[in-house]
Amino acid sequence: MSDEQAEFKAKMQSYVDRGDEGIKTSWDDVNRPMIRHWAQAMGDNNPIYTDAEFAAGTRHGGLVAPPTMIQAWTMKGLDGQAPGSSTIDPMAEASELMVAAGYVAVVATNCEQRYLRYVKPGEKLHHRYRLESISDEKKTGLGTGYFMTQLLEYCTEEGEKVAEMRFTILRYKPGKREPKRPPRARPGMTRDTEFFWQGLHEQNKLLIQRCASCKTLRHPPAPMCPSCRSLEHDTVEASGRGTLYSHVTMHYPPLPAFEYPNTIALVELEEGTRLLAGLIDLSAEDLEIGMPLQLEIVRCDDELTVPMFRRAQ
Ligand code: ZN
Repeated sequence: MSDEQAEFKAKMQSYVDRGDEGIKTSWDDVNRPMIRHWAQAMGDNNPIYTDAEFAAGTRHGGLVAPPTMIQAWTMKGLDGQAPGSSTIDPMAEASELMVAAGYVAVVATNCEQRYLRYVKPGEKLHHRYRLESISDEKKTGLGTGYFMTQLLEYCTEEGEKVAEMRFTILRYKPGKREPKRPPRARPGMTRDTEFFWQGLHEQNKLLIQRCASCKTLRHPPAPMCPSCRSLEHDTVEASGRGTLYSHVTMHYPPLPAFEYPNTIALVELEEGTRLLAGLIDLSAEDLEIGMPLQLEIVRCDDELTVPMFRRAQ
């Protein structure tokens, strides 16, 4: 940690050590309508929340609120309205300092609730809150920043604690993320085409299928020779020299694995067969039918290697 970092960390830690607490009171007593709405929204049909007669016969002796609802009782309004709130807020103060230091982004990372007992309709709650901890500076996938945890303790008017919640946020400097291109779709691999892709990937060779009987070359690979109908075949390695036979530029639909505009060439190899391939450092305006092209074998990822072509020197 640099001196500057240490100083910053110490300054932020002072908000934790300050130990002062804020308080937020609830709008309403724990009440049946809010409980009913919550239970319906959550699809929780437990009758201890809504059926008074049933609840009276349980160990609770009456209706109770769903424990997971605890945060709702003291939650501020949509526009931040909060009855009887104190203005103390070390988390907000520390956050201001962080924003000024460039930690402008924020994301909630964790929320942990602990319930000490059920609360019942008619009870009035408030929560006390304080900044419990600030981490050291951490490098995360989002960027570098600090995790801050606020502790909220939910209490009755008599001061009995009924639940607590730890709410953690990450304040960070957004990293400059390179847009990550997804991998190209895998080519359909069959027993007929396997040699072609393996030749590229494992031997760094562009292979052309050849009839073992009449020696006619063919591409795309196929099980039978179209000239003599032989099922026997082997391969020859292409020299890599060819010419542009035709081309097309693909605009739509955009596939994230490719750069656009995506010009695709039909290349006639000097051996006579033609194949489709992408182009390197050539756009549609640069192309002339018949222009000489040179093969470049390009490794896309750990599984896929493809033939591409650039202008021949
Ligand atoms: Zn043949």
